[in-house]
Amino acid sequence: MKINWSGFSKKTYPERLKMLRDSDLLSHELQENLEKNETLSVAIADQLSENVIGTFSLPFSIVPEVIVNNQAYTVPYVTEEPSVVAAASFACKIINRSGGFSAHVHQRLMIGQVALYQVPDREQACQEILNQKDQLLEIANQAYPSIVKRGGGAREIRVEKVSGQTDFLVVYLHVDTQEAMGANMLNTMLEALKPHLESLSRGQSLMGILSNYATESLVTSSCRIAFHYLSPNKDEARELADKIVLASHFAQADPYRAATHNKGIFNGIDALLIATGNDWRAIEAGAHAYASRDGLYRGLSLWTLDSEKEELIGEMTLPMPIATKGGSIGLNPRVVLSHELLGQPFAKDLAQIIVSMGLAQNFAALKALVGAGIQQGHMKLQAKSLALLAGAKEAEVPKLVDGLIAEKTFNLEKAKSILKELRS
Ligand code: NDP
Repeated sequence: MKINWSGFSKKTYPERLKMLRDSDLLSHELQENLEKNETLSVAIADQLSENVIGTFSLPFSIVPEVIVNNQAYTVPYVTEEPSVVAAASFACKIINRSGGFSAHVHQRLMIGQVALYQVPDREQACQEILNQKDQLLEIANQAYPSIVKRGGGAREIRVEKVSGQTDFLVVYLHVDTQEAMGANMLNTMLEALKPHLESLSRGQSLMGILSNYATESLVTSSCRIAFHYLSPNKDEARELADKIVLASHFAQADPYRAATHNKGIFNGIDALLIATGNDWRAIEAGAHAYASRDGLYRGLSLWTLDSEKEELIGEMTLPMPIATKGGSIGLNPRVVLSHELLGQPFAKDLAQIIVSMGLAQNFAALKALVGAGIQQGHMKLQAKSLALLAGAKEAEVPKLVDGLIAEKTFNLEKAKSILKELRS
C-alpha cells in the first residue's frame, strides 16, 4: 500500500497515530501498544540488567520514507537530540527523488580472537594450528550446534603474530552468525577452542573474545543527488555541491573535523540501532576503528561530483554486524514494533538501511554546514527545548518559542523571563 506521508511532521501526535493506524504498517496488537504507550515492563527490565529501579524513556520517532535498493521503508528513530529526525527526513526526501540509496553487503561474518602468549616458537605454532584448521572449525561448530542447524557456523581460521610489549600469537575465527550479532556464539566457540590452541601452540591463552572490529561485515551505501535538488538557483546548487565535496575532503584530512563528521553520521545510525534493539556500543567501536584503518582517523563518508550528469555522489562503507534476533530483541515491545515498522527485514537488509541512514544524516549536516549554517536550523528546536526546560505548558510553548526566536541570542534565563512576561 502506497502511503502519502506529506505533511506528517505538521500533524498532531494523535493525528500521526491515526495515520499509522490507517496505513496498516502495524498489527492491531502493536498499534494498541503504541497508542497506550506500553514500553518495556519493569519485570522484563529486571531480567535484562542488574540493580534495576525502573525503566528509562526516549522519544520514539519515524523517518517516514527511505528508499533503499528500490524498496521504501518507514524507519524508526530513537533520539533525544533536536533536529536529527527533521534533518534525516529532509535528506531522505531529496535522496528519494534522486532514486534513493543503492546498498550492498560485502560479507557477513563475525570475527573472534584467541590471544596466545609465551608461545615458544610462534612460526611452528602457526603451522601446527593451520594444519588442524578443519578439526578446529569442527570443534567450534560442535560448541554451538544450533547456529550450524540454522545454516551458519565457523567458516575460517587465520593466525597472526602480533607484537607489542609482549609477543602474541593471535588466532582469528570467522563465523556466519546468520540473523544474530553473535557475541555469545563466538565467545562460546572460542572458549571451546582455547585448550586445543594452547596444546597446539604450547603457549598460554590470555583470552578468547569476539572482536567488534568487524571487517568481515562491511556494508556500503551510496546515493546520487541531482544538483537541482540542492537549490532552485543553478549557481547556488553547484556551489553547494562543490562545498559538500570540500567538506568531505576536510573530514578526510583533519581528525578534529572527522570526529564531528562521524558523530553526525552516528546521529542517524545510533537512532536506528537503539530502535531495533542493537548494541550501539559495538557498532560505534567497530566503525571508529574502521575510520582509523590507515593510521589517521578519517571521515567515514566520501562525497564526489559527476559534473557531466550534474550529480553529487555520496558513498559510505563501514562494519555493520547488526542483528534481527538474539540479545534483547524480542523482549522490548518497542523494539518488536520497530522491526514490524521496517517490514521485518533480514539482518543484511537492516544493515543496508542503517548505513543508508548514516549517509542521509551526513548529507543533511553537510548541506546545512556549508549552506546556511547549522545553527539557523537548530534555533527553533533549541528554543523549543529551552521553553520546555523553563517550565512552559504545551499551550505556552509556541508563543515562548516565537519570543525566543525574536531575540538574537537566547538561554534558559531568557526563556524563564519571557515565560514570566507571557503569564503576567
Ligand atoms: P544471543 O546470545 O541472544 O544469541 C542469539 C540467539 O538468537 C540465540 O538464542 C539463537 O537461538 C537465536 N536465534 C533465533 N533465530 C536465529 C537466527 N535466524 N539466526 C541466529 N540466531 C537466531 O545473542 P548473540 O550471540 O548475538 O550476542 C549478542 C549479545 O551479546 C548482545 O546483547 C550484545 O550486547 C552482547 N555482547 C556483546 C559483546 C561485544 O560486542 N563485544 C560482548 C559480549 C556480549 P539458538 O541458540 O537456538 O541458535
